[in-house]
Amino acid sequence: MPLDPARTVAELRELQELTGDENGAQRVAWTDTWATARDWLRGKLEGVPVTEEVDEAGNQWFTLAGASDRALLIGGHIDSVPNGGWLDGCLNVLAGVEVLRRIAEEGTPSKTVRLVNWADEEGARFGRSLFGSSAAAGSMRDQDELRQLVDRDGVSLPDALAAHGVDLDRATDARAQLENAAAYLELHIEQGPVLESLDLPLGVVLGTFGVERHRITWTGQAAHAGSTPMDKRRDALAGAAKLALDIRRIATETGEGAVCTSGGVVCRPGIVTSVVETAEQLLDQRHLDPAKLAAMLAEAKRAAETFAAEERIDVAWERIWNIEPILFDEGLIELADEAVTEVSGTSHRLPSGPLHDAAEVARAGIPTVMLFVQSLRGLSHTKLEDTKPEHLELAVRALDRLADETLAAAAV
Ligand SMILES: [Zn+2]
Repeated sequence: MPLDPARTVAELRELQELTGDENGAQRVAWTDTWATARDWLRGKLEGVPVTEEVDEAGNQWFTLAGASDRALLIGGHIDSVPNGGWLDGCLNVLAGVEVLRRIAEEGTPSKTVRLVNWADEEGARFGRSLFGSSAAAGSMRDQDELRQLVDRDGVSLPDALAAHGVDLDRATDARAQLENAAAYLELHIEQGPVLESLDLPLGVVLGTFGVERHRITWTGQAAHAGSTPMDKRRDALAGAAKLALDIRRIATETGEGAVCTSGGVVCRPGIVTSVVETAEQLLDQRHLDPAKLAAMLAEAKRAAETFAAEERIDVAWERIWNIEPILFDEGLIELADEAVTEVSGTSHRLPSGPLHDAAEVARAGIPTVMLFVQSLRGLSHTKLEDTKPEHLELAVRALDRLADETLAAAAV
């Protein structure tokens, strides 16, 4: 069977038909629909000489044995958000199926090739993303917190997992799956507007952004809106408002894809007749360079002190969450550039704002790279998510070339 990228597009449509409705894809992890998608995936590999294994974290592996145990991994996730798109995650799973078919057709490969369908990348039901990949990568350290999670219907995460044969206490045993991994490849839709704005179908991902998330509490004094002169106010919202605008300057001056977002401000007492006493502001900052990310945070803190002094209010910072930038493998980035150039003429390197399973695998020390294919209008996590079929076909070809070059690379 020579590579048939049009078949991948047809299979993506088939999966959409099977597991979506008028609102979009419904393959939320640890649901019946998700299990249906996994069974369907197994059927797609019938006749290909692979062995299937579901590991302790629920990740679904298909292994094509090679002359060597050293394994090339190709990964994606078939789970979706509720009312999701037809490509997020499953594109790479199905592109991987096509690449496996092509490699198997040519006989025993020099190295083992494994396709992994990661369990619960999205975290849509319990709010914990990258479940299966973090378990396999050895970075899952929040099992005590995971035990406490419940979904909207009151079902606990351990019970939901048990219904699909997964024991949370043993999930991290999935670590064994990465023992012979030589390289990891992941293709994904960009989920942003950059490639479309450059009129390019494909790009090579340099790594995933580091993230700093903080809650900033501004404290002033509640006072009557009618009787308090403007120059006598200590307005907590004024500090939050000034910072919300200033982070645009901070991101622009930092550059190289820097983004800063003030995602929400909650004011108290929050009534029309009072000056705001406390304003709780949420800040998210992202960059690929750890030093620049740290500098952006320091700059925001400096600006906040200035605004607090100007408004005669107090400001306090509390970190909600952070993660360091994760850079992909330089050698694989070079190979990916060659593959993309070969199939589409031009390559472009870009960082990823969203996190992906690939970031977990890279964190585990396995050489990793991702390919992005253009997203129309930059939309994702909605049924409006789309990519031109001809670009999807180029993406399958690029992944296939990259897999071939990676198998041939001496270092792998
Ligand atoms: Zn995804």
